[in-house]
Amino acid sequence: MSRIWVLGAGQLGQMLKHAGMPLDLDVRPVDIESEETFPLQSHEKVTAEREQWPETAATRQLSAHPAFVNLNTFPVLADRYTQKSLIDKLELATAPWQLVENDTSAEDLHAALGERVLLKRRTGGYDGRGQHWLREPGQDAIPDDWHTQAIAEQAIDFDEEVSVVGMRGEDGQCYFYPLTLNLHVNGILLGSVSPLARLAHLQDEAERMLGTLMNDLDYVGVMAMECFRVGDHLLINELAPRVHNSGHWTQAGANISQFEAHLRAVAGLPLIAPTVKNTSVMVNLVGTERNNDWLSVPGAELYWYGKEVRPGRKVGHINFCLSHPAATQAALDQLEPMLPASYGIVLDWLRSQLN
Ligand code: ATP
Ligand code: MG
Ligand code: MG
Repeated sequence: MSRIWVLGAGQLGQMLKHAGMPLDLDVRPVDIESEETFPLQSHEKVTAEREQWPETAATRQLSAHPAFVNLNTFPVLADRYTQKSLIDKLELATAPWQLVENDTSAEDLHAALGERVLLKRRTGGYDGRGQHWLREPGQDAIPDDWHTQAIAEQAIDFDEEVSVVGMRGEDGQCYFYPLTLNLHVNGILLGSVSPLARLAHLQDEAERMLGTLMNDLDYVGVMAMECFRVGDHLLINELAPRVHNSGHWTQAGANISQFEAHLRAVAGLPLIAPTVKNTSVMVNLVGTERNNDWLSVPGAELYWYGKEVRPGRKVGHINFCLSHPAATQAALDQLEPMLPASYGIVLDWLRSQLN
């Protein structure tokens, strides 16, 4: 049995472990806070479920391991400044941006980027945390400790948000899942749908962009690219060098999930183009208590992460991959009263995509 160590033991690490079982891959997620060391053998691969980690005995040991796949990619993508610089270097479309320097003022940013400017902390932000809007030229200001620690982006008046999950093998061969349509509310992903015929004309552009990035980084494994759709084009929002929440539907909707794809690539096993079944939907469970009634909904595939429930925290997701859109509609109707009322907009949005 080969063993793969995962830096990070959150839900992504657990789902990698789950995906390793049928292939007899012994996946070992490691808590980044651990002060233990682990019996790491020189030939065993290390991967990560997150792009940044604190200095602990565990992370020092894993990140010093010679077989840490993509080790050099993490610092580049974990810092929005180097990530956006890479996207620019490769001449890929992205929201206009600049670094917030020591002497940058809010007026400078409005002059360069427009009336609505989004500041994003260079590191550590997720689920929309670490963001600060400048929307009132002449009245707003950059928070003090954001100078040099943030980038500023032009607000994009996008039509919708999509993402693509791709994989690249050791031989450089890339494969992609179809584009996923995503609903974010207040910066947090609440629902996804894939594939959608009306997005198919954007697939080549998405693959070219993500393929260019993975090739430039000589990346091995699964990478996700979040985009804004503006008319018939994509603008890159951000990249994640790992399995991604917007790819969770692949657990139900593809012959190879994103988790298995990542493990295959990291382990040097064959990759193939994933085949996709019916249109899948994913409902993210955020800050909501577990309800076993969800399991009574036909087609519901629940992943419950076993974490303490806190407001705004991702605690699980439910996938559906039913053979008819009408069946998915009916399942979402049945699910609705089992979720907090705030999910109404998510379920309405999902149902509207299936029409
Ligand atoms: P994630 O949890 O996906 O890692 P994050 O906190 O790293 O998210 P982003 O993905 O950069 O942050 O932004 C979160 C959301 O904020 C986006 O999905 C989008 O809805 C909105 N957003 C980000 N950048 C812009 C922009 N330039 N213009 C308009 N909206 C934006
Ligand atoms: Mg992010
Ligand atoms: Mg994001």
